[in-house]
Amino acid sequence: MSASIEVSNPATGIPLGSVPDEPAAEVAAAVARARGAQPAWAALGFAGRRRALRALAAHLVDDDELVRTLVAESGKPRHEAIGIEVFYTCELIRFFTSGAGRRALATEVRRPFLFAHKRCRVIQHPRGVVGVIGPWNWPLLNNFADAVAPLVAGNSVVLKPSPVTPLTSLRVRALWRQIGLPDGVFEVVTGGVGTGEALVNTADMIFFTGSQRGGRAIAEAAGRRLIPVVLELGGKSPMIVLEDADLGAAARAAVWSGFAHSGQVCIRTERVLVHARVHDEFVELCAAATRALRQGGPESGDVDVGAMTFAPQVPHLQEQIAEALAHGARVVTGGGPRTDLPGRFFAPTVLADVTPGMAVARDETFGPVLPVLRVKDEEDAIRVANDSPLGLAGSVWSRNEARARAVADRLQTGSACVNDVLVNYFCVEAPLGGTKQSGLGYRHGAEALRQFCRTESVVETRWWARPVVGFLRRQLGFPYQPRVLRAIRLAMRWLYGGRKRKVRS
Ligand code: NAD
Repeated sequence: MSASIEVSNPATGIPLGSVPDEPAAEVAAAVARARGAQPAWAALGFAGRRRALRALAAHLVDDDELVRTLVAESGKPRHEAIGIEVFYTCELIRFFTSGAGRRALATEVRRPFLFAHKRCRVIQHPRGVVGVIGPWNWPLLNNFADAVAPLVAGNSVVLKPSPVTPLTSLRVRALWRQIGLPDGVFEVVTGGVGTGEALVNTADMIFFTGSQRGGRAIAEAAGRRLIPVVLELGGKSPMIVLEDADLGAAARAAVWSGFAHSGQVCIRTERVLVHARVHDEFVELCAAATRALRQGGPESGDVDVGAMTFAPQVPHLQEQIAEALAHGARVVTGGGPRTDLPGRFFAPTVLADVTPGMAVARDETFGPVLPVLRVKDEEDAIRVANDSPLGLAGSVWSRNEARARAVADRLQTGSACVNDVLVNYFCVEAPLGGTKQSGLGYRHGAEALRQFCRTESVVETRWWARPVVGFLRRQLGFPYQPRVLRAIRLAMRWLYGGRKRKVRS
């Protein structure tokens, strides 16, 4: 019998139940079921898969049990559970099953230049069984929602949610079965790292969202099997506030993008780089907006900031703050855990006088701590923003849109917003992913769907060339003939210029 993992409510500490820590044999069985179900799912065609997934979306919209589970195991406000997680998941299903999704998966015909008598059909086949491995911060949005693109592309999926928040994924699987969607196409296995490793050892492809450490281990394991991986990892996303920004709007955005879901958001504002001329005013505006936030248990009424989902994050935040204070930073508001509240809460914290060498400015924080750094000018802001091994997201604030756009274009990030924050996650038409050590591949756009396909190019002779194709094949194949080689040389010189062309320096 497999061991079990206890799940509890971070806002109250009350146990919610337990799930099995599934061993490799159970994972192999789930992958085998998924492998068996996949051909029939692919054979449904795009229209059939669209019908199935849109029916599921219609149930997700109004499933109170799903929202209750999500809120209870993550400790986030209902507003974020419904307005971000459920909304996003339904929007993702809409986009991937729209005309854009159909076109991304459709067979394309390409005409070669050199072999003009040929045509190539470029076909997108599903890869088979995609293993989706998810984190704890978005139990729906980075767990089941990550299964949507692989499913639309005709794969079956085995999802391994985080052991911290597995119940939401189990609720989606229950809904899947309840509305009669095909067995085996969407499987859930629960457990920790060992269960994830077993999935990496058996699936045909992995879509992983989580930490750099997890991503690196999975890339290594996938490399041994030579299976493809998509990695969506952590970030240190900068927000640049130039001296001509609308400071009120920028401060409100910094506070929202810094403290939504208690800062446990991958593309959150991890550091704010503010032009020296407006730095002090900006810090005061942020502090005032932060002090106005309502924090507490999501079940206790309307709150803005909920609980810390994952217990080890609390000492991690305390260490980063202590190190920053020891090196000259200052707590403007907040600063530590909320001992006046039951459960696990951390006060939204604004830190000023932060410098780039401090851990809080350099390493992922992933909690409600907003470090503000003073920069000399636009160039200094870009330099500090890009001086990081991570490159997930960012934002630039200026009343001069063209100026902000030019700065955003120079950020070394997978995506960026001009005078806005976090909305890049909802613009699902555009590719979204990390660059540098923040990841490989995409979660949005046609680019995301194509990753879950095995591309095959089939080359055929065009109808008008069929009578001469035998002659051409004889010229190019065995036995090689000197006059054909001379003709090839001539053709190459004519096409590419040969040795006659000189390159001027
Ligand atoms: P984590 O890497 O500890 O775990 C993520 C998942 O991977 C869990 O299900 C875990 O059990 C599993 N896992 C870990 N190591 C594994 C291994 N070697 N083999 C197989 N499975 C393994 O990450 P976490 O703490 O759950 O999530 C927080 C991190 O996720 C943060 O860094 C955050 O920035 C990142 N994140 C990124 C995005 C994005 O879109 N880029 C979105 C959400 C979260």
